[in-house]
Amino acid sequence: MTDAPNETTEIAVIGAGVVGSSIAYRLARAGHTVTVIAPTELGDGASYGNAGVIADYAVLPVGTPAVLRALPSLLLDPDSPLALRRAAIPALAPWLARFLRQSMPGAARRNARAIATLLAHAAQDWTDLAAEIGAEPLLRRRGVLSLYETPGQRAAAQADLAWRRSHGVQVELLGPHELGQLEPALRTAAEGGAAYFPDTLSVSDPGAVLAHLTAALAAHSVPRILDRAETLRRTREGVEITGPGFRLSASRVVIAAGAHSRPLALAAGDRVPLETERGYHLEWDMPVPPVSRPASPTARGFYLCPMQGRLRVAGTVELGGLDAPPSPHRLTALEDGARAILPDLPTPDRAWMGFRPSVPDSVPVIGPSRAGPDILLAFGHGHLGLTLAPVTARIVEALVTGAAAPVPLAPYLPARF
Ligand SMILES: Cc1cc2nc3c(=O)[nH]c(=O)nc-3n(C[C@H](O)[C@H](O)[C@H](O)COP(=O)(O)OP(=O)(O)OC[C@H]3O[C@@H](n4cnc5c(N)ncnc54)[C@H](O)[C@@H]3O)c2cc1C
Repeated sequence: MTDAPNETTEIAVIGAGVVGSSIAYRLARAGHTVTVIAPTELGDGASYGNAGVIADYAVLPVGTPAVLRALPSLLLDPDSPLALRRAAIPALAPWLARFLRQSMPGAARRNARAIATLLAHAAQDWTDLAAEIGAEPLLRRRGVLSLYETPGQRAAAQADLAWRRSHGVQVELLGPHELGQLEPALRTAAEGGAAYFPDTLSVSDPGAVLAHLTAALAAHSVPRILDRAETLRRTREGVEITGPGFRLSASRVVIAAGAHSRPLALAAGDRVPLETERGYHLEWDMPVPPVSRPASPTARGFYLCPMQGRLRVAGTVELGGLDAPPSPHRLTALEDGARAILPDLPTPDRAWMGFRPSVPDSVPVIGPSRAGPDILLAFGHGHLGLTLAPVTARIVEALVTGAAAPVPLAPYLPARF
């Protein structure tokens, strides 16, 4: 235990990814005294390396009856878009058992409703947040494409699209010719055409968005403790958090450490089945990327993302825990997949792996700890952490101030586990 002197704050936010930073910003803006704890200044976590899509059309949880049917073949192929590291199977077994239950029709429908309720706020909340933190130039309004490489893939996607439409998602179906007019580089890549989500926003640089949030926190004089939070303990005055080089007493704590939140939640009294879906990206430096909006060859599980000065190819899921090194064959599969769509890509300039914070029902964990309202949980956003960070921040602010939350909270509470 550290012998660092005791510092105090009103609200400690643990984690400075897009979720923790958005929460800290929102609370500081509302006049609270906030301290952020995170081991790095800007971060190279999921919030830096993602595909940059404000994915308001992504109402389906990861676990659905269709995924359940395809699961055995997906999991057994190490190069599939959803793979499992064999060494991680024993540790993952309880999570997988819950995931299978959450993929049944009734549970999947309920989870989709909970996700859609949050997604309904994503575009407006990002528009507002970007304006406040000066990140408007990073927000693009060019829509997103789901590519079907064969007519069979397009036919198979119709049930999925109908499900999305039933949640109010706007989608247009494009033939290969129309797709080629919109994105000439994809003219021959998708014989089955594409689904086009015309209203969906994306960001041109998730790392730059984080930098804007960090600058906004500095402008509100929010101090940052550059360290890992390791213990969390209730005291008579509030909650004491310690790490290797600090000791901080807070009246309230928000745990927002992404995929690393599980032990902190456990220390607070909440046993949350949080695991990670590892994801990868490759980047090619180029002044003008070959696509002008994010486009996902759906069967390959990644996005081609135009970013500032580079093309990023990001995605795929590998269930494999937090400790193992990146799997080289996953990066090779990603590179081969990218070249199947854009054959002229040279050797990539850089590679990255990061940790999606994933719960079995794909529904983020937002709300007070079972042990009391002085500890709030805000993690588990899986594939949608960028998309849902601003609405999560509004919910946490409402919980702190006692105001009405923007959505009914029951589906998101930690107590559901
Ligand atoms: C390849 C890929 C593509 C993706 N694409 C998209 C997309 O297009 N759209 C979308 O919405 N989402 C996407 N996601 C998901 C999204 O990136 C994540 O859901 C989101 O970044 C999670 O944010 P976070 O702030 O919860 O966690 P993180 O970004 O992981 O941040 C966690 C923070 O906690 C800190 N931390 C960790 N341990 C401790 C500790 N002990 N003490 C203090 N601090 C700690 C870290 O340093 C970091 O600051 C993608 C993810 C991946 C991997």
